[in-house]
Amino acid sequence: MRIVELRLHWVRIPLHEPFRISSGEVSAKDAILVELTAEDGTKGWGEASPMTGSFYSAETPESTWKFLCDRLVPNFLSRPELDPQQCSDQLAEFPGEPFAKAGLEGAVWDLRANRERQPLWAMLGGSARPIETGAAIGLFPTVEELLERVNKFLGQGYRRIKIKIAPGHDVELVRAVRGRFGGIPLMVDANAAYGVRDFRVFKELDRYDLMMIEQPLARESLEEHAELQRQLRTPICLDESAEDLEAVQKIIRLQSARILNIKVQRMGGLWRAKRAHDAAEAAGIPCWLGTMPQLGIASAQGLHLRTLPNFLFPTDVEASSRWFADDIIAPPIEVSREGLIEFPEGPGTGFTVLPDKIAKFRICSEVFRL
Ligand SMILES: [Mg+2]
Repeated sequence: MRIVELRLHWVRIPLHEPFRISSGEVSAKDAILVELTAEDGTKGWGEASPMTGSFYSAETPESTWKFLCDRLVPNFLSRPELDPQQCSDQLAEFPGEPFAKAGLEGAVWDLRANRERQPLWAMLGGSARPIETGAAIGLFPTVEELLERVNKFLGQGYRRIKIKIAPGHDVELVRAVRGRFGGIPLMVDANAAYGVRDFRVFKELDRYDLMMIEQPLARESLEEHAELQRQLRTPICLDESAEDLEAVQKIIRLQSARILNIKVQRMGGLWRAKRAHDAAEAAGIPCWLGTMPQLGIASAQGLHLRTLPNFLFPTDVEASSRWFADDIIAPPIEVSREGLIEFPEGPGTGFTVLPDKIAKFRICSEVFRL
């Protein structure tokens, strides 16, 4: 199989409501789509999906675009590696830039799956099964608005509710949700907003029977997370700290968490995310699949990875219409009344990428021909 063309498309889709976490907010979703074309016309699609602004990750759409155009794509095209695992190893020769790598590697996986007429989950070693999904709810100006959102998403079938917390907006929110909705599957995400002097907040939260407390302390505070975990009954789940395979191995060694949130974009692609999943499984640490969030291509690929056996909690991948005014795949990702996502049968992800939607939301593109 020979590659004849690689196209990058930078798209921007408005959000229905701003995405707010403890460190900032955004109102549109940017993504850089990677379109590989083989000589027989077979396509492979990937998505590099950093958030706008730099509050969520050091990488931005601007920096990822530049790295792809100037470094990663020219390097890849100089010796195209179309075996996804080998491609992942080749990309790992560059330091950092996980979003760009995830986008390119995702296109290589998709091309291979389409070429071999196989579903992506089978190539990743998973099994066909519907995916349990949960809703993630940001910070709101009032408790009443938060409770309205919780009510709405429970009504839509989501299997668990995750609420964001920040210093001064934590125990009170959990108490209110428990008071109104009783023993629903509930977890909190602090996005690294607390320090060691705030342990009392988590000891207080420990009384509310939460599924997990996600990323209470700073990304690099692995020893401190281990100490906090020793003091809590509630499992700590690490997200920002699980930034690459090496970090996951260190978390396991230090016992900094009892649950891991694995994100394909942050791990730098499906293969490295699978290896993180496998390392956690070997250590008896269950995982769940997070999102940055991403548009349809990256979400669909993540859902296929989610069929691996040690992903034991509902994913953060939500319906396409949850955040985005539109999406670039058909059918859109939908959540059933039972809180499940099923993907269409067929090779690759089973979803179809829509060129007219890409054209509608495109900011710019770049074509590389061989
Ligand atoms: Mg998180």
